[in-house]
Amino acid sequence: MPVRSVLIYGDPLLRQKSAEVSAEEITSSEFQTFLDDLQETLYSEDGVGLAAPQVGVLQRVFFIDVGWAERKGKTPVWFINPVVEPYGDLEDYDEGCLSLPDIRGHVKRPGHVRVSYTDREGRAQTLDADGLMARCAQHEFDHLDGVLYVDRLSYAGKVLVQGKLKRLKQGQQQGRR
Ligand code: ZN
Repeated sequence: MPVRSVLIYGDPLLRQKSAEVSAEEITSSEFQTFLDDLQETLYSEDGVGLAAPQVGVLQRVFFIDVGWAERKGKTPVWFINPVVEPYGDLEDYDEGCLSLPDIRGHVKRPGHVRVSYTDREGRAQTLDADGLMARCAQHEFDHLDGVLYVDRLSYAGKVLVQGKLKRLKQGQQQGRR
């Protein structure tokens, strides 16, 4: 299963809106291989979740493994055509993203989510979650609409990271990774 390269901030594909995956495509061997690739790509990096557009595939899919991130073993979940509904009190958390290396920033998001999605066998599922899963599901869901967590930083938070963002973007333009 090949590890895909993760696109870095400044790549225009990270700002695109992704398309729904058709029911027939979900069970195709090509798509199943892609899901395996997403998993391997995340496991090769130090992350909690990865969305398809981060590897340049504009489809509404993301992969989250909270157990892996917390060093408790692999607990992979693939979310296909997800709808994430956040609820509850806002919580502050220091977020990072594999597409924004060496940057972190505090983002306020609701502490709970209800996610409706299709699993990799093509079955409709719902998940209620809090904690890291709720945080990560909202972050990954944003990727499917071309939104990055740095867009959600406070004004002061944006000022703090603007120098690093500029350098990442310049690196992209010069073809460096
Ligand atoms: Zn991200």
